[in-house]
Amino acid sequence: MKDSRRSFFKKSIAAIGATAAASSFLPGMPLFNINSGSNKKMKLSFRPYRLELKHTFTVAEASRTFTPAVLTEIEYDGVVGYGEASLPPYLGDSQESVMEFLGRVDLSKYDNPFDLETILTDIDNIRFYNTAAKAAVDIALHDLVGKLLNQPWYNIWGFNKDKTPNTTFTIGIDKAEVVKEKTKEAVGFKILKVKLGKDNDKEMIESVRAVTDIPLTADPNQGWKDRSYALDMIHWLKEKGVVYVEQPMAKDRYEDHAWLMERSPLPILADESCQRLADMQKVKGAYNGIVIKLMKCTGMREAHKMITLAKAYDMKIMIGCMTETSCAISAASHLSMMCDWADLDGNLLITNDPFKGTTVKDGKLVLNDLPGIGVKKV
Ligand code: MG
Repeated sequence: MKDSRRSFFKKSIAAIGATAAASSFLPGMPLFNINSGSNKKMKLSFRPYRLELKHTFTVAEASRTFTPAVLTEIEYDGVVGYGEASLPPYLGDSQESVMEFLGRVDLSKYDNPFDLETILTDIDNIRFYNTAAKAAVDIALHDLVGKLLNQPWYNIWGFNKDKTPNTTFTIGIDKAEVVKEKTKEAVGFKILKVKLGKDNDKEMIESVRAVTDIPLTADPNQGWKDRSYALDMIHWLKEKGVVYVEQPMAKDRYEDHAWLMERSPLPILADESCQRLADMQKVKGAYNGIVIKLMKCTGMREAHKMITLAKAYDMKIMIGCMTETSCAISAASHLSMMCDWADLDGNLLITNDPFKGTTVKDGKLVLNDLPGIGVKKV
């Protein structure tokens, strides 16, 4: 047996799970006592942070040079878990709304940080919206729990970290020459995601194709208005080596997407149409798959449930991101081995990443051995 006895015990603890880990049946293990009656309390803290983008980022609906974020920490018995809310404008959240929400979260009333279901359900019930703020708590709590168990989440969930997919690298909408330059910069990636949805879709694809012949994915971000146009474009994109298309038309056009899915030669994925677990019933039958993002779905716990349901529905899964630091990207990467595709490049698009975590090597996501979500402050 290659494993040392100690690491075997550690893995056993992770597999047994939170409840059993609270007991003290393995003397000498670095277990944290979370028996009831403990007077240890969780403490949530947060601060605003501005993610500076390397390039002006343009998608169908807008352009921007920075993305506001809020960084969170949950401290418990000297151990700190890190989290993050990233706030692209279209989510409808701001640093103010996130911090206002987080100000309502009282973790001191929970004695047991391992009771993720209770804590995160309570937080979800504070208000219907603020999914990114909820994700900021969820991620920090998962990081904390993983650190208390001294295990990375892929071990706790039982996933093989070597089975991560390649991640796409995103090329935003721009002039042909700029697109060619950005494509040249994407050295090492095995698949690229091209943003579409303005009036230069074919030029975008041709510009990328002038530089590389690796597989592409396409994301019109609801930018196509007509379903017949969408179908023609998808046939053309298939000829150009595109492997799937995200959210072709407006998010509430389920019937048009169902029409398109029946005829499309490529898988159609619901992104804006499918934010949370409860949305999956609506997109089933209208799309071939879903795009999961922690900032949309309130974090790792609900993302895990969405993956389970998507597999039951026989739907494809892409795990994606916003512009984010390595904190939220690393958190999402622990689920990536359960997904068909990954688009976890948000941390590579910023110049001021305060964390180190999951990296990309030869286009593939590489997870480290650190406990929790696997990040360190830079
Ligand atoms: Mg998308």
